[in-house]
Amino acid sequence: MQEIDRERFDHVPERLSGLVDLSYNLWWSWHPAAKMLFKQLNRQAWKESIHNPVRMLQHIPPEFLEAACEDPEYLHRYDIIIDRFGRYMNSRGSWYGEEIHPDQHSSIAYFSAEYGLQHSLPFFAGGLGFLAGDQLKECSDLGIPLVGVGFMYAQGYLDQDISTDGWQGSIEELLDRDAAPITRVLGGDGGQLVVQVPLIDPPMYVAVWKVQVGRVPLYLLDTDIDSNRPEYRTISHRLYIGDREQRLRQEIVLGIGGWRVLRHLGISVSAVHLNEGHPAFALLELIREEREAGKDMEEAMEAVRNRTVITTHSSVPAAIDTFPAALIEPYFKSYLHAMGMENTDFFDLGERPGHRDEGFNMTAFALRTAGYHNAVSKKHGSVARQMWRQLWPDIPEDFVPIDFITNGVHLPTWLNPRMGGLYSRHIGGTCPYWKQEHDNPAIWELIDELPDQELWEQHNWLKNKLFNRIKERKRRKWAEGLDDPLNLVAEGLMLDPSALTLGFARRFSTYKRADLIFQDQERLKRILINPLMPVQIIFGGKAHPDDDEGKRILQRIYRFAQDPAFGGRIAFLEDYGEQSAQYMVHGVDVWLNNPLPPWEACGTSGMKAALNGVLNLSILDGWWIEGYNGRNGWAFGEQSPPVDRDAADAAAIYDLLEREIVPLYYRRSLDGIPHGWVAMMKESIKSVTPAFCARRMVKEYVHRYYRNVLGRESGPL
Ligand SMILES: *Cc1c(COP(=O)(O)O)cnc(C)c1O
Repeated sequence: MQEIDRERFDHVPERLSGLVDLSYNLWWSWHPAAKMLFKQLNRQAWKESIHNPVRMLQHIPPEFLEAACEDPEYLHRYDIIIDRFGRYMNSRGSWYGEEIHPDQHSSIAYFSAEYGLQHSLPFFAGGLGFLAGDQLKECSDLGIPLVGVGFMYAQGYLDQDISTDGWQGSIEELLDRDAAPITRVLGGDGGQLVVQVPLIDPPMYVAVWKVQVGRVPLYLLDTDIDSNRPEYRTISHRLYIGDREQRLRQEIVLGIGGWRVLRHLGISVSAVHLNEGHPAFALLELIREEREAGKDMEEAMEAVRNRTVITTHSSVPAAIDTFPAALIEPYFKSYLHAMGMENTDFFDLGERPGHRDEGFNMTAFALRTAGYHNAVSKKHGSVARQMWRQLWPDIPEDFVPIDFITNGVHLPTWLNPRMGGLYSRHIGGTCPYWKQEHDNPAIWELIDELPDQELWEQHNWLKNKLFNRIKERKRRKWAEGLDDPLNLVAEGLMLDPSALTLGFARRFSTYKRADLIFQDQERLKRILINPLMPVQIIFGGKAHPDDDEGKRILQRIYRFAQDPAFGGRIAFLEDYGEQSAQYMVHGVDVWLNNPLPPWEACGTSGMKAALNGVLNLSILDGWWIEGYNGRNGWAFGEQSPPVDRDAADAAAIYDLLEREIVPLYYRRSLDGIPHGWVAMMKESIKSVTPAFCARRMVKEYVHRYYRNVLGRESGPL
């Protein structure tokens, strides 16, 4: 049971009460017409709510709602959308319904430490979270009975605040639980459901919230409740806490607590999917349940193996959570005893071969315990097989059972609605169902029908929108007296919409080499401040609050952005998040990606850019090895690692810019359109979209994993 607190919405007229339900289902966020229903009530209130309809409906002056009730045109649109929403939620027919026999329709539990869903829910750090969010949305669209489990990070917002000398500080902002699109899940007594994490010493409790993502519920765990000891209350405050013990507690809560919550809710689960190793203790809890039901250890492990899949995202052993035995033991004493597992057996399961001294490795444990394992791109598959081959010492590396499913992005979330409208006008005539079948490459051949001029104009419209947003934010801060003039320049005051614009925005992890392009500053300068063919770069991204190295890289870039020698052609966009990502991947001309191989497991931001006609300039690592076809963007870094890899990769970028990218962009016909460039945009859209959308990815998960597991045994595990 969970309920929207309707009293907060007393002032919403009965005729428009559907808006309240809509505001609590993120379905609106990937249906532009639904978003318009809120926006049209009052643009100012929409803006002030920061695109959060729950907050907006709570604060909007009632006269705007009354006016909407009197407006036949608004009501007409309202009725259409509410009807469409109702049909989506209740629809019987779905892709999944046709693929999988209804007897097998029990749930798939999906566990992730982070979810990137929408700006109003600060539950993400970067790519891993957006992947999880896109997975939920796509499962909803395909009718897959997935159930998500994650955290309610109340202090997930760290607003980036960059000082004049370029050092990243952060302003902590608390999530307003009453104004976020989340509801309390209620227990039998009518109060919020609180579940004990079993057998952990001292006892640990979680309260449960829910976000509705279309048809997929996401249950969020919250430890900030009275029943918990003070040190437990902060477990769920924020993502990836640096303190090891607190991080261990987080993972106990997510895996073991998360699984108990699904049990309490009476959800019948057949498959369990772990997004990375953080939730891996869920597997332990599954084994414990089997033991409790009377199976011996071997049978219990076998039963768990049969229905679990772990997706690993990391190529960096140091990035995987490992907990020292001395830290872990006290928590699990009663737990292991109750399930009849010896301490040594437990630590054997979590040993990275040859590294027992590191302690308990979450990914090693998950790979040993789950039956199915996958990496997130073809290249990452081979990296992961090499990295983990010692887990299967008797098997040749090529046969190590770690397969790959390349990541993809949720098209309705990342394709700009206007760009989508353009596609509809030119594809829709021949292929009215193109949106439903957007993972079918044949449909995308029709992109050739787009008139160059329309595509170019639409792209430039989005580019202007990005620039206007950047400048408007700066203008507001300036007017409020909050900004130093130097920061105005560094943050984009001098950006010029007619100049070729590169974008680089993502987490500031060291291996992503955000400052690589500054290797040869003189050469870069010549490229940027060329008066006839200028180039500019917009950067964005946050360093983890504990990552001083990342902050130093950020500072270096920020100082270049302030440096007059670069002529205001470098900008750093503050506070990169879900919203600014949308503007960036829609509005720049070229998306730059230059991580140090082989650390990029997949990467998804380049896919978001490509489906909007933004061209990728990327090193051959992660997804781009599969995505690049010689005609849909630019690639470098193929050769075996040279001595000075950074210098060589930067030189490759300058070469491509000087010889190919800049000339192509500025080669205009009499009509002012760079037809060569537009041809490449079309090639990028049609080659990348069907292959790297979440629809293709999720269908692979169903066919290769979920389906094997479903219906093996009816009822609970
Ligand atoms: C997609 C996305 C990412 C992931 O970017 P990568 O380049 O794949 O690392 C990170 N942050 C935000 C806000 C995103 O939307």
